[in-house]
Amino acid sequence: MSHRIFNFSAGPATLPEPVLRQAQAELMDWQGMGASIAEISHRSAPFIEMAAQAEADLRRLLSVPDDYAVLFLQGGATLQQALIPLNLAAPGQVADYLITGHWGQTALKQARPYVDARVVASGEANGYRGVPPRADWCLSGDAAYLHVTANETIHGVELRDRIEADVPVFADFSSSIASEPIDVSDYGLIYAGAQKNLGPSGITVVIVRRDLLNRAGQPRADILTYASHMARDSMLNTPPTFNWYLLGLCLRWMLDEGGVEAFGHRNASRAARLYAAIDGSEGFYRNEVAPAVRSRMNVPFFLRDATLDAEFLRQAGERGLMGLKGHKVVGGMRASLYNALPDAAVRALIDFMQEFAQRHG
Ligand code: PMP
Repeated sequence: MSHRIFNFSAGPATLPEPVLRQAQAELMDWQGMGASIAEISHRSAPFIEMAAQAEADLRRLLSVPDDYAVLFLQGGATLQQALIPLNLAAPGQVADYLITGHWGQTALKQARPYVDARVVASGEANGYRGVPPRADWCLSGDAAYLHVTANETIHGVELRDRIEADVPVFADFSSSIASEPIDVSDYGLIYAGAQKNLGPSGITVVIVRRDLLNRAGQPRADILTYASHMARDSMLNTPPTFNWYLLGLCLRWMLDEGGVEAFGHRNASRAARLYAAIDGSEGFYRNEVAPAVRSRMNVPFFLRDATLDAEFLRQAGERGLMGLKGHKVVGGMRASLYNALPDAAVRALIDFMQEFAQRHG
């Protein structure tokens, strides 16, 4: 049995062991074809069947209503941040952006060339330690959409309240998709790079209300057009076949594990235990995000004495606790607790943090 680390990486992130084992077992010969899935045509019947099953499983996992299309695309979440205004807003039309961290800012940046992108409210002045109160949001009223980031992977801020708006809400769920039940019909569009809760990088899921795809949008190539991808079952050009397959295995694994209800309970309890350890450390560790909007998936934290950061990471590494270095935008530490992370990893991290604080406090 090979050595596996406890992998807290923010993404690409840990994958479920049963998925890795199955992929390994099928690599030489998938479904008796004498070739791996990475070596066959995406036009072949077995591949098309696999892709259809992945879509069906995703629809089941997230209870996606029939009036929503599911697309499997390339280009990551960042490309969607540009495709959204291109497809779903007229040139120069107003589009509203709620900014609760770094990824809201990137969404705004990608949209700026195409729309009159307006910041409804921003947590920046507050160091992204919370979500600006709803009463302070300046919604435009005539916007093509309101864009929000469901979970800010770097700043550890997660939207916990249902967003009420008169325009369709488009949400970046890259780091929290499938982490708990959501009501897809609250959103006009949901997008997520797969490399956190859904599988490997290189494939991105877009869930979009079909009627929105009737919007003319802006001049653009066919390859940048959601409706064209939908019409061709996300095979307008050669899709990332192996990534799609791995994503499909991850979806199956999540369904087998009890689906988003089971993960919702597990994720809430794991995050609560880790935040309790941070808050109970008498200031040795700290997380400054308002408790009501602390992320269940990405837990950034800081050591009181930042000169201990390198030693913390070294000792954590000795115990196989990897991927804990915070994003360079904020520094410090970050533990990402995605669905595929075993409970034992969270227990081991908390034990280690407590011992380290005792030794160095
Ligand atoms: N949005 C969020 C919330 C993210 O966490 C990330 C990546 N970490 C991105 C967007 C960008 O994703 P990609 O690299 O797939 O373009």
